Amino acid sequence: MKNFTSTYLKLSSDFYSLSKPEVSNSEKSLILYNDELAKKLGLPDYSELEKLQIFSGEKSFEGQDSFAMVYAGHQFGHFNPRLGDGRAVIIGEASGFDIQLKGSGKTAYSRRGDGKSPIGPVVREYLLSEYMNNVNISTTRSLAAVRTEDVIVRNTISYGGIFTRVAKSHLRIGSFQYFAAKGELDRVRELADYTIDRLFPSIKDDQNPYLSLFQKVASKQVQLIPHWMSVGFIHGVMNTDNTSISGETIDYGPCAFMDEFDYYKVFSSIDRDSRYAFGNQPQIIMWNLARFADTLIPLISSTQDDAVSLLETELKYYNELLVSNQRREFAKKLGVVDESYSDKDDELIELFLLYLQEEELDFTNSFRALSSLLDGDTSSFPENDRFHKFKDSWFKRIEGKDIELVKRELNMVNPFIIPRNHLIEEAIVKANEGDFELFNELNTAFLKPFETNEKYTKFTLPPKDSEKVKMTFCGT
Ligand code: AMP
Ligand code: MG
Repeated sequence: MKNFTSTYLKLSSDFYSLSKPEVSNSEKSLILYNDELAKKLGLPDYSELEKLQIFSGEKSFEGQDSFAMVYAGHQFGHFNPRLGDGRAVIIGEASGFDIQLKGSGKTAYSRRGDGKSPIGPVVREYLLSEYMNNVNISTTRSLAAVRTEDVIVRNTISYGGIFTRVAKSHLRIGSFQYFAAKGELDRVRELADYTIDRLFPSIKDDQNPYLSLFQKVASKQVQLIPHWMSVGFIHGVMNTDNTSISGETIDYGPCAFMDEFDYYKVFSSIDRDSRYAFGNQPQIIMWNLARFADTLIPLISSTQDDAVSLLETELKYYNELLVSNQRREFAKKLGVVDESYSDKDDELIELFLLYLQEEELDFTNSFRALSSLLDGDTSSFPENDRFHKFKDSWFKRIEGKDIELVKRELNMVNPFIIPRNHLIEEAIVKANEGDFELFNELNTAFLKPFETNEKYTKFTLPPKDSEKVKMTFCGT
């Protein structure tokens, strides 16, 4: 059946290891299943028991073989030639999407790890990736979450979890790096051809399809990072093995949304040099794209100098595009995207961000309050010189526009609600105890992030000092 065929297994066996999920004997429960996504994928109407069996790895997914992918990657700038899915297996494909279990036990690439996941990262990824999708940011999706009573020992002790992730594909920059680093050009080509067939069929007959492949990937990534930043998202572990070829946000390990604005904010406990700080993300994605470019050099031209020069031109172009996308995302947040956009708008954006930083104001709520500021409500904004300067210039900039329309536009890009770290942490603690009420409630509250909904005002409040999450952990 075409709907359920693993295209990846048609590649040579160097690309993966067949690997069955480990079945845990402990008590298991399905805590959430995404019916809407299941429909989109064309999945059968499974019974509750079947859902639990399939998405905990006990029963095969539509008769397909499961496997772990091999990849390499630059982690915090250092190259690791062999990583691979150490705690994940792809159980098959549905309607062209990969269906992957995370936390289902050891694979050929587990190294010293146990291949399992505590319940915490499962809850976090479920909520955050669905939220991202709901704010129209390209992301992997959440299909199912299972809790097990396996005892998982990390920094703390908790129960286990198995997360079902859905992606257009799990190919990463690191997938290309694995073969390129070994000098296996035929494999790099095989992978590039597969990628083009699966993700970008329209470039197949281009004059230089591999150069087009680079352009496709770069264009998606330089859109994605400004999107992240527009909602205050810090990925936290932008290693090349976590940079997806399909342009989806992938790997919700130590990621977090900012509360008070800080351009150089870092949450991840392992990001000691602040490499992946909020404001470094554009620079990092360009570095990662350069690593992708490295792998394609021999495919792009038989003359190395020509290939390098072509790719350098592309990198420069995409860097400029990134800057202009970044501007546009923030201009939208101030309701000033139009044909008369100028450098003055950059100054306006900068002025507002400096004001937020100086006053340690909440990023999300301050942008959301801009539509009320247009009605003269200054209650969310402590007054100082910078604020007055911003307000005067901003009002002047939007003078003559239809204010009701601007307000609507602002509220369509500045979310009412974000997944705040302290709430996610609370949902995790409760889920570990077997109480999924908050998990479910947050999941529902995140369905319409741009709609003001008084029922959920409690979730929009910034954390009190005692509630503040200072650090996040990979949880691996
Ligand atoms: P990440 O930091 O989540 O991108 O993971 C980096 C690498 O470590 C990947 O190859 C993962 O598969 C592997 N890994 C993470 N956690 C585990 C675990 N519990 N057991 C085995 N491998 C793991
Ligand atoms: Mg990863």
